[in-house]
Amino acid sequence: EVFAAWRPAANTAIGISQAAAADPSPDKVDLSVGAYRTEEGRELILGAVREAQRRLEADPATNHEYLGHGGNPRFCRLAAELALGAGSAALAEGRVASIQGVSGTGSLWVGAAFLSRYYRRSRVALLSAPSWPLHDLMMERAGLELRRYRYYDETTRGLDYEGMLEDLRAAPQGTILVLQGCGHNPTGVDPTPQQWQGILAAAQERQLFVFMDNAYQGFVCDLEEDAAAVRLFVDAGLELLVAQSFSKSMGLYGERVGALHLVAASADVARGAEAALQELIVPMYATPPKYGAAIATTILADPQLRQQWQRELAELPGSMLRRRQQLYDALQEVGVPGSWEHILKQRGMFSYTGLTEAQCGHLMERWHVYLTPDGRISLTGLTGPRCRYVAEAFKDAILA
Ligand code: PLP
Repeated sequence: EVFAAWRPAANTAIGISQAAAADPSPDKVDLSVGAYRTEEGRELILGAVREAQRRLEADPATNHEYLGHGGNPRFCRLAAELALGAGSAALAEGRVASIQGVSGTGSLWVGAAFLSRYYRRSRVALLSAPSWPLHDLMMERAGLELRRYRYYDETTRGLDYEGMLEDLRAAPQGTILVLQGCGHNPTGVDPTPQQWQGILAAAQERQLFVFMDNAYQGFVCDLEEDAAAVRLFVDAGLELLVAQSFSKSMGLYGERVGALHLVAASADVARGAEAALQELIVPMYATPPKYGAAIATTILADPQLRQQWQRELAELPGSMLRRRQQLYDALQEVGVPGSWEHILKQRGMFSYTGLTEAQCGHLMERWHVYLTPDGRISLTGLTGPRCRYVAEAFKDAILA
């Protein structure tokens, strides 16, 4: 035999969404994919993005030459300022090493590879129970040992804060702690600002190395509030990694725009780490894609365009909250058994419905309602007129 046994592909949200796209049923509702859809069910290209594209097209300096291994330096700086705050002391002191990644996923992967190769204090990665499945996959593939901290409380359908703190305090010194800064995927459950203080204290107590995934900045509340957790850790003087994505905040999903920032203890460490990160990138993909980062740079660097982007982005959290309310109302009207308050309380793009894997299967097969098998739905896949149909489908799946 030439090849070892294949591993079947994981049941990813993108895979399920492709199955939904191939389903010819006029009834279908795709609640699986983590991409924004308007309240009329359409993809969204922001006006600021269109304007940036127009400017790039008209600019004679635009070309298709390679970027360096670390990507577009201007983009990296603007992205770091967006994540850490323009007035960040870490940035002013030159303690931040940034590379442009292949969106959030690619940035996380470079970060995982970096920790696997260079981090000396632990080979254990502590992930929330549950976490985004790609976190599990990446940490494992990077050769790190996976452990869990309690996060989602099945009974309250909120945060198991006490359980989480207990698990962080019981972690071996130096353990890698993977956190999501806002809009937790898949649960939609985020710590409060006060709870973040407790998490920081636990991380300091055990000298945990924080790897912060902040893919939803600007998508949950606003650009400042959604960056508060990241900035809390940075401003407390911790060394940490931050993975950033412009998929959601600029709607640049397929263009793969993101960055990885290592906030280091000194400018010397940051300089060395930047070279090490670039060295890791060389055999992976050599250089990141150019176009999407040029769009993001054009927007971030121009005050007027940046304002337009911020105005457009500010509309999206409210639109997702409206859809939470519409779904909740429909579930009540249809009389779906169980309590559904959590749909209103959870935040960001996702809601963790509490539906079982079998019920999810039923929804997909009988009702053409697509969602990930852990019961996660993306609110952006919902349109007002389809809420009732989805509620009827939930009821049938629960009573089946
Ligand atoms: N991290 C989390 C928690 C996510 O939900 C996502 C996207 O769904 C990402 C990172 C990265 O997305 P992208 O690779 O499109 O930037």
